[in-house]
Amino acid sequence: STMRGALILTDDIDTWLATANEKRRSMPNRKFEVDLADGRWMWAVETTYNDGWIMLVLQDFTSLKQREIGLEHARDAALHAAETDPLTGLANRRAIMRYLDDCVQLASEGVPLSIALIDIDYFKKINDSYGHHAGDDVLRHFGRYCTHIFRNSDRVGRIGGEEFLLIMPNTGGTAAVTALQRFKHHLHRASQLLPQRLGFTFSAGVVEWQAPMTSSDLYKDADGMLYQAKAGGRNLIIATGNARPDSQAVAGQGGEI
Ligand code: GH3
Ligand code: MG
Ligand code: MG
Repeated sequence: STMRGALILTDDIDTWLATANEKRRSMPNRKFEVDLADGRWMWAVETTYNDGWIMLVLQDFTSLKQREIGLEHARDAALHAAETDPLTGLANRRAIMRYLDDCVQLASEGVPLSIALIDIDYFKKINDSYGHHAGDDVLRHFGRYCTHIFRNSDRVGRIGGEEFLLIMPNTGGTAAVTALQRFKHHLHRASQLLPQRLGFTFSAGVVEWQAPMTSSDLYKDADGMLYQAKAGGRNLIIATGNARPDSQAVAGQGGEI
């Protein structure tokens, strides 16, 4: 509490001292880092002689240590930035595609997998009517709700513009459609909180993995379903095997997807 000397984190100083003495006896030459209570870091070289004398040489290496800690933070930040879309905070295209590859690998080993390609409807109109800032708000809003609504193991990435890829491991096609409908419901309610109460919708193409599909097979099929959802009038969720422009009908076909 005097904030001097080495930081000793213990409730039982006697035991701590006994352990320290034991270490000294068993290791007459020790080298270790010491962090002092005032924030300095010391590099310690300790020699214990047979007659009990101890020589301790301390060298201040605080600036080196701080640079090391700084570099670690910088590296973590760089790694995070390389995988993150700066606007929404979601995974970026590269990161989500790599996750897709990982999940397709697991799917080939028996873990169910569904994916959805999601595109916001008439997004250009939002930009044109309310400005680019409002468009950005919608994207951020969308990203925030993605992370709230879906399972922890589900992951959403921004593929580009107003297009997103949702990856749902351990999920069959029917459950995937249900999850998207729940998302649609929440998103609609939450969008009432946006400035100007911007009600916006999305269309989605859903595909369940089947052997021997590759990542790009899955993606292409999802893109095809999304195209049908747009052609069918938008605000639709369409899944393979049930490619009808009627989201309710798709949801009702439980088990068939
Ligand atoms: P559809 O219903 O067919 O999907 O029509 P849409 O208007 O959503 O699609 P379109 O591809 O015609 O327009 C997408 C627009 O998204 C065009 C582009 O300027 C805008 N956009 C792309 N990236 C961003 C962004 O980061 N911020 C904002 N505000 N707009 C973006
Ligand atoms: Mg769009
Ligand atoms: Mg688009």
